[in-house]
Amino acid sequence: MNYLDYSFKNLIDGKLGPAVKKGTMEIINPANNQVVANVPRCTTEDVELAVAAARKARLSWKNTYIGERANLLFKLADIIRKHEDELVTMETIQYGGPVSKTRNFDIPAAYGTLEYIAGLGRGLTGTTISADPLARVMTFREPCGVVGLITPWNFPLVTAISKLAPAMITGNTCVLKPPSCAPLTVLKLAEFVVEAGFPPGVINIITGPGSEIGEAIVKHRHVNKINFTGDSHVGKRIMELASSQIKPVASELGGKNAMIVLDDAELDAVVETATYSAFFNSGQNCGSPSRFYVQEGIYDDFVEKFVEAASKIIVGDPLDPKTMMGPLAYNACRDTAEYYIQSAKKAGSKLLLGGERPTSPDMKDGAYVLPTIFEVYDNKQEMMQEEIFAPVVGIMKVKSPEEAIELVNDSRYGLCASIWTQDYRKALKMIDELEVGTVWVNQHLKIVPETPWGGCKESGWTKENSVLVLEEYTYHKHIWLNLDEKPHTFWEKMISLN
Ligand code: NDP
Repeated sequence: MNYLDYSFKNLIDGKLGPAVKKGTMEIINPANNQVVANVPRCTTEDVELAVAAARKARLSWKNTYIGERANLLFKLADIIRKHEDELVTMETIQYGGPVSKTRNFDIPAAYGTLEYIAGLGRGLTGTTISADPLARVMTFREPCGVVGLITPWNFPLVTAISKLAPAMITGNTCVLKPPSCAPLTVLKLAEFVVEAGFPPGVINIITGPGSEIGEAIVKHRHVNKINFTGDSHVGKRIMELASSQIKPVASELGGKNAMIVLDDAELDAVVETATYSAFFNSGQNCGSPSRFYVQEGIYDDFVEKFVEAASKIIVGDPLDPKTMMGPLAYNACRDTAEYYIQSAKKAGSKLLLGGERPTSPDMKDGAYVLPTIFEVYDNKQEMMQEEIFAPVVGIMKVKSPEEAIELVNDSRYGLCASIWTQDYRKALKMIDELEVGTVWVNQHLKIVPETPWGGCKESGWTKENSVLVLEEYTYHKHIWLNLDEKPHTFWEKMISLN
């Protein structure tokens, strides 16, 4: 299965076409390391054209009736629905997410998010302020202008749509850059944008290396805001570049998410959720739990059952509907996972499961790592501190909820955490103390368009999804309409002209 005969194109100013310099990049299927497609490799020349198109389109798009903008988002959702089967396979083949995920989550979440935001955005309002009886004071919600949207590979289509939909409904125009290893479904989206009838220049989609075209988008003086999801190191680099223009950067970055399991947790529920949420998509989810703090009374039972459940995960060809875990997104991701496995061993952690590649011949050429669980004795170890972004997790025994909180907060990340207990009073107290953007109690990794998503500390500080996402794509313009026939009386108290 491949797309070598298919011509993927950029979208600039309403036209689908190759990169200006006609360069291309290969897309590799990580399940077997074979080339499955070629896509445009853009350069700064394409960035210039895309930004110019977005800038040219921005005023007419901002002044387009919001209902009309919403209708275009609904049309886009319909087209995605019609192409669901094709997108499911394409998503899987480019980065290894099993079809059980791409069919049941990614593609439905893509059209679901478009529809949710298309409706939600129409409720956007400004405010009126009782500042002065002789004035009418209000705020308008203004689009930011041209926004640069830079996205990662772990949920390629839905992450792009989570940014595109709010950007569009609030009247921004955009230049969208998907990840270089997995741009195929976003390039299909470019075709759907044309089919849906978006005006030229409103949505521009270009592919190419982040270090080159991503940076050019960030630095471009006609790009008013960046919305980025990706690694925290890259986020820092983007903020550094943007700072010379005081350009706002919305950032959804890495995480080292914790699951806290207290003695009174419901064992079967926590074991099942731990297994799914840690190993779903091979652990390549910003919100996956990768460190577990388990209270001593339930520790042995939890560890035994968790290891047993994880050992039953079916690892294999991501195109097979029975597969629960496919390969990592590309070989370097597997190398990173293997580095941290070795580091944990050297540091004296005890390997409880996995720690190696599968031996089956049909997986020998792919970027596979088996579900891996370590028992860890020191929270300072890389296993408990670094984002590995792989099916590799560490478990530590704790004496009390207080100790768990201290260890969870001993991290530079702050994306999310979960608490497993039947005592909601205790949970509420712990919620207050956790330094993270999301806390689930007796749940983990359940994310829906209606709920806000985003972290604190080095996980970033902005919000995706929910009504809060509209804040990221608008600013409040303050308007003062004076009704006082003698406006100068305000000044007379301070300055005398006589
Ligand atoms: P990266 O940060 O490597 O890449 C993300 C995007 O940034 C890609 O499009 C990439 O382009 C681009 N990019 C890379 N370097 C630069 C640069 N110097 N300037 C501008 N753009 C650049 O992340 P991954 O794709 O590897 O995704 C995994 C990461 O994303 C993990 O850290 C994960 O935690 C995080 N993530 C966070 C989420 C959240 O909500 N908090 C959600 C999902 C993922 P290219 O591909 O060409 O290098």
